[in-house]
Amino acid sequence: MTLVLSDRCNFSCPYCPQQKGKNVLRIQDITAFLDLLRPRLAQEVWLGFYGGEPLLSWPLVEKTVAYAEEKFKGRFRFTLTTNGSLLKKEHIFYLKKNRFKLVLSYDGLAQKNRDAGSVTTVEKALANLREHYSAGYAVNSVFTPQTVPLLAVSMAEMLKKGHKHLLCSLDTSVPWQNADLTALEGELKQLVSVCLEHQQKTGSMPLENLKENEKKGVFACFAGRDRLALLADNTVWGCEIFHTLLGRDPHNPDYAKYCFGKLADFISGFKEVTPAVAANYAELRQDYFFSTKKEMCGLCDDLESCAVCPVTAALATGILAVLPSWTCEVKKITRRAQAGFAAALGPPGRIRQNAHA
Ligand code: SF4
Ligand code: SF4
Repeated sequence: MTLVLSDRCNFSCPYCPQQKGKNVLRIQDITAFLDLLRPRLAQEVWLGFYGGEPLLSWPLVEKTVAYAEEKFKGRFRFTLTTNGSLLKKEHIFYLKKNRFKLVLSYDGLAQKNRDAGSVTTVEKALANLREHYSAGYAVNSVFTPQTVPLLAVSMAEMLKKGHKHLLCSLDTSVPWQNADLTALEGELKQLVSVCLEHQQKTGSMPLENLKENEKKGVFACFAGRDRLALLADNTVWGCEIFHTLLGRDPHNPDYAKYCFGKLADFISGFKEVTPAVAANYAELRQDYFFSTKKEMCGLCDDLESCAVCPVTAALATGILAVLPSWTCEVKKITRRAQAGFAAALGPPGRIRQNAHA
């Protein structure tokens, strides 16, 4: 479950698709949302605090955690996604005490393209995290066609700094031209070399993208099935990113198809309305997706090892589950890098010589 505490943010990252506003959730909305879902919760539920920038609403985080601990007795594990600029030691101690998994968004050498003034404060927050809660956070770095030439050197730097969990994300909501795709392939080749060296030296691989994923099968979006989000404007969606795509466009027919309504309507119509909206989410499976060139993912040889967020794709194409051609290419390039890493690594514990020349 995701709580988008507010749509306020102190950054204006060029790749962020969210629209800012002045909406803030109230604690009574959060508790009503949690209470309604109580009988339907799994044994363990991840509750994510999101924004905007959630540290701008810190008292709401504390109140929600206190309520969840009192009324749900250890049922929730918490996550929080932050730009890190407001993260102080006292926050870190609190997050550690409550076993949060923190996701800090930091783009390495590309951070200055995002918010030049943020580099020093975010790096300080990262140093504090490494010192006081090293196992409890992941760094997510986003690269765009403009910043992709900085990808390998940025990730190498972060590996060197000793962060335990790293994630490298690519912004596919904007076009990737052939030259950008070539640059991406070159950067990922370099990154694989750096990672192999790191694995050889330390025996560990902090970069989540290169960790072996045993799971194969047709990807289905989690939204509305085992995932729900309460947005800062008090609407309920299967996943917060649907609000980014449709939230400001209530006349779009997809709004009624995917929005569970305002919280009060969601609560009052829970048994009648919710199943019909949830059924629309069930259609969002990779084998039903197709590209702008009308190629169907269902016919692709790579279907069972590919996963594309249908909403991120729609941010580019304007139509849910229709994927821009560059997404397909980006996926193929990243899969080649993963396969190259796995092949060079060989059986567990062994690195084959010359395998990634
Ligand atoms: S590689 Fe392209 S066509 Fe194949 S499943 Fe992925 S997105 Fe669809
Ligand atoms: S695939 Fe996209 S829309 Fe679906 S749950 Fe993941 S992020 Fe949300």
